Amino acid sequence: MARYNGPVCKLCRREGQKLFLKGTKCYTEKCPIERRAYPPGQHGPAHARRRRQSDYAVQLREKQKVKRIYGLGEKQFRNLFERAAERTGVTGENLIISLESRLDNIVFRMGLAPSRAAARQLIRHRHVEVNGRIVDVPSYQVVVGDEMAVKAKSRKLGRIEESLESRTRPELLEWLALDQKNRVGRMVRKPTRQDIPLAAQEQLIVELYSK
Ligand code: SF4
Repeated sequence: MARYNGPVCKLCRREGQKLFLKGTKCYTEKCPIERRAYPPGQHGPAHARRRRQSDYAVQLREKQKVKRIYGLGEKQFRNLFERAAERTGVTGENLIISLESRLDNIVFRMGLAPSRAAARQLIRHRHVEVNGRIVDVPSYQVVVGDEMAVKAKSRKLGRIEESLESRTRPELLEWLALDQKNRVGRMVRKPTRQDIPLAAQEQLIVELYSK
């Protein structure tokens, strides 16, 4: 799958808000979005001056924002959307819950990595187990009762320790449990949309993909 490997701060500038894609660095270094509050590129400043956006542009930007926060490519995001639409319930909410149930997101939410990108790397490098077996697929969908753990040999990894000790680590959400000492976490219940601290209007994404 093609993955964006360019400068991530550009993505925040494009969306006009901090997406916290660099983890702890977003709190310590001078954030480019504060210095250059306009989209990247030659026409960025002119773009910022344009006042009215079409409905399509608003929907597109919302979709891009959510896709970038979770670090997905277009095809992966679209597939997730289609599966969310097939399920019963509100499609937008199903989509956000599926994104939130990805293994990389849960490793990040448990504080084992400072960002979703760093969590993906931990998983790809085979440091994470689910129910006692190594899982190296960041998109793995975690279900209620699954136990996520850092494998025994990796428990003392400096970057995991640093992330857990960081003042900027995300707050542990109610639907997750963590035994920090043993680096073991569990999904104790399925999250609802209200449980997920994501400032996004998922209805706009549904409208975009339903055209
Ligand atoms: Fe985004 Fe973080 Fe870069 Fe700021 S420092 S623009 S929040 S990735």
